[in-house]
Amino acid sequence: QKTKLLAIALLAVSVSVRAQKVDYSAKVERLLSQMTLEEKLGQLNQYSNASDQTGPITRNSDGQIDEIRKGRVGSMLNVRGAKNTRLLQQEALKSRLKIPMIFGQDVVHGYRVTFPLPLAEAASWDLEMIEKTARVAATEAAASGIQWTFAPMVDISRDARWGRVMEGAGEDTYLGSKIAVARVRGFQGKGIGQLDAVMACAKHFAAYGAAVAGRDYNSVDMSLRQLWQYYLPPFKAAVDAGAATLMNSFNDLNGTPATASAYLQRDILKGAWKFDGFVVSDWGSIGEMIPHGYAKDCKDAAEMAMNGGSDMDMESRCYIENLAVLLKEGKVKEAQINDAVRRILTKKFELGLFENPYRFSDEKREKQVLNSPAFREVARDMARKSIVLLKNEKQVLPLAKNLKTIALVGPLAKSNEDMKGFWSVDWGKNDQLVSLYEGVQAKVGNQAKLLYAQGCGVEDTSTQGFAQAVQAAQQADVVVMAVGEKYDMSGEGHSRSNIHLPGVQEELIKAIQATGKPVVVLVMGGRPLIFNWTADHVPAIAFTWWLGSEAGNAMADVLFGDYNPSGKLPMSFPRSEGQLPLYYNYLHTGRWPQNDSEKQYKSAYLDVSNSPRYAFGYGLSYTKFEYSDLKLSRKNMTDTDQIEVSFVLKNAGTREGEEVVQLYLRDVVAQPLRPVQELKDFRKVKLKAQETTQIRFVIDREKLAFYNDQLDWITQAGDFDLMIGAACNDIRLTDHFTLTK
Ligand code: BGC
Repeated sequence: QKTKLLAIALLAVSVSVRAQKVDYSAKVERLLSQMTLEEKLGQLNQYSNASDQTGPITRNSDGQIDEIRKGRVGSMLNVRGAKNTRLLQQEALKSRLKIPMIFGQDVVHGYRVTFPLPLAEAASWDLEMIEKTARVAATEAAASGIQWTFAPMVDISRDARWGRVMEGAGEDTYLGSKIAVARVRGFQGKGIGQLDAVMACAKHFAAYGAAVAGRDYNSVDMSLRQLWQYYLPPFKAAVDAGAATLMNSFNDLNGTPATASAYLQRDILKGAWKFDGFVVSDWGSIGEMIPHGYAKDCKDAAEMAMNGGSDMDMESRCYIENLAVLLKEGKVKEAQINDAVRRILTKKFELGLFENPYRFSDEKREKQVLNSPAFREVARDMARKSIVLLKNEKQVLPLAKNLKTIALVGPLAKSNEDMKGFWSVDWGKNDQLVSLYEGVQAKVGNQAKLLYAQGCGVEDTSTQGFAQAVQAAQQADVVVMAVGEKYDMSGEGHSRSNIHLPGVQEELIKAIQATGKPVVVLVMGGRPLIFNWTADHVPAIAFTWWLGSEAGNAMADVLFGDYNPSGKLPMSFPRSEGQLPLYYNYLHTGRWPQNDSEKQYKSAYLDVSNSPRYAFGYGLSYTKFEYSDLKLSRKNMTDTDQIEVSFVLKNAGTREGEEVVQLYLRDVVAQPLRPVQELKDFRKVKLKAQETTQIRFVIDREKLAFYNDQLDWITQAGDFDLMIGAACNDIRLTDHFTLTK
């Protein structure tokens, strides 16, 4: 009961008011003046725990402990647990100046309780819930000795082949920026230094998600206008929301590795944006400039990274081994090193580590907080909201509660492990992840008989198990199929060129569909997948991503109508990999096909449509929403005016539901060109059956502005199309207005 109350109290602050920042500069300067060069370089050095993360730190792996005692390590990652972090902090406090270390960890979608993948959460378009899950993750991690998460990943990506789309918020800059802010606020709560907050780290700066051909770590080459228009805004939003740190990235941008980019890190981030936190390199990314072909050796790399504005070296050792010589040779400046050290020390003061280096390593609190029932409830709620209903014909869903026999078929129907998704913190306890089978079983109890057949493995090429699956289907009133990727077929270093349903899974779906029984297909994965036959033939389909600890319960809630699905796709789902990159806010061409039969000499493929299989913003509900009475307060505006837009939304069905109403704009004629539509606002609205409400949006200059080739944020006089709807391709209300100068 006590635990529950504590958890509820922690969650009460869903919209966090930030605490006043204290000025530690005098303390930082005093400490800095006492530090030797070696001690300073120690602060810039970060290692990953070379022993087992979950076990006690007993091995002096790679001499790490010796280095820590000498003050040569400013931060560690992958050490977790109140006990382990305390043990290691004790070593740091044996150093001459007793400067505590910061413990970092990739707390990407949950710490002990696992939430849906970040991309799945993005499908909820529910900023409050997204903030809340980050809040819970921070609360758990901070109670377990962690002060720093390497999240959120705010990279925009338009290519589903890229394995890391699972970790971001999808393809759209506006949605991505809003979610970036929600996550930073969630992680940092009322401010770093609070016992339930961790430092956020917006990553990967910058343009990592635009890797050529969706191949992880690949080069990025794009116009600066494109960079500023689409890829930088989520970072700017995170910085403005107070993100304590940023991480740079593995890719090169227009020929310069991000790690060495003074343009990105010094001019934009620390200069124009006045970012006062610090930048950590990506894992070994300083040293990786050698194989990249940019630096000839580690010393060369350290010089370029320091001049480029990278403050902390994660894992490459190039800084600790070379900066002293580089300083002597005049190749890096003392002021640069001091600035980097200052930034890191400031965060250590803000975290309260100098007051009490063990304040986050509290085993009692850790026990109380981790995996609490209230937190699992949040996970279940978020998981339900992340599910996207793609198709629901013949009223197959929701399932009736009095079904006698339900067949659960498919390689993922009984999987616990996959529910965690990539980048979950590994506790080696898959038993705490609820599978679909377990979720359905808990829901129906003894009321219905459950049949199960795997049919095939995810990547199997054999159809041997089909007969048994068909038999189960024939005996059932309804078949629920669970297909998709394994959890580790997406994620870092897990790009794929073929994103169709793997193996013979679509063949299995055909075999089950042929039984004539009502079929529901749940597709699980870390990225948009391709399943055209299923989309054409199966009456009910939902995309469930990887939903975390409460996956099975959440899916059962949606299947049986205890939760009315409300998710909307944050990324376009292609019909073919050949369409990639694919995104809704494309530019028109002078030769755009009017319809799918216009192919030749058009900006089209001869063999596939230009449209996605499922569009950005798309997702169904068990109820129907009607849009009407669009009103604009005026039909023309200047840069200083606003237009108030209002319309009526009605839940025209028989059950309560949530709709994500989306506002898109198009600048009809512009130089440079502007996209055919761009998301400029949205709202998630809950309505009871037959309830109506009036929704209001405001259009101001910010919504009309864009970057020109000189990177000025401008507007141009002219006509704008206004589109309001339930998806980018399901526009219900339109109007237009004019901007005059
Ligand atoms: C990833 C980062 C991550 C880091 C530490 C790198 O390989 O690119 O996103 O934070 O490892 O685990």
